[in-house]
Amino acid sequence: MTTIGILGLQGAFREHAKSVEACGKNALIIKRKEQLDEVDGLIIPGGESTTMRRLIDRYDFFEALKKFGQSGKPIFGTCAGLILLATDINGSDRNHLGLMDMVVERNAFGRQRESFETPLEIKGVADDFEAVFIRAPYILEVKNDTEVLATYGDKIVAARQGHYLTAAFHPELTDDLRMVQYFVQMVEEKRLASA
Ligand code: GLN
Repeated sequence: MTTIGILGLQGAFREHAKSVEACGKNALIIKRKEQLDEVDGLIIPGGESTTMRRLIDRYDFFEALKKFGQSGKPIFGTCAGLILLATDINGSDRNHLGLMDMVVERNAFGRQRESFETPLEIKGVADDFEAVFIRAPYILEVKNDTEVLATYGDKIVAARQGHYLTAAFHPELTDDLRMVQYFVQMVEEKRLASA
């Protein structure tokens, strides 16, 4: 049975675990890096990226997370998770995991739009996904073979690069399972291919 891990250091990890279970798969909330060996794919949830990074360093997750991605296992980063995956953060000379080729802009929608909901067309996922944005980042630019999956106005809000998937919004905060289901399918395809 496919097991999907959710990085459980900070943020909306419990909600993600519920949506993975609602898709009929095992969810494992990851609190120790050794648990990464037990999962076929990983979700990095929304929360606060600088806090999450601090906890990643404190609990010695950094190299283990990078290795997980580099080994070809799928990772889905939502919101703060998107920032953690990016190779480039606009206005900063630092990045975090640097696994997915894109430039991100943090807290990009401004104060008056701290949180909002909007229907989105997401390539390969849905043409009417009700997306919840909370102090969301967006993707300023995709690089190399990173593919845009969704835009909101002129802003890129979902993308995929091979086994990496990312969304600026919070699919775990709605009952619509189609985005998580899309990730589950990526994980299962990868699992079959490497079996
Ligand atoms: N703005 C947050 C950050 O920079 C992300 C917000 C979220 O995950 N909802 O980490």
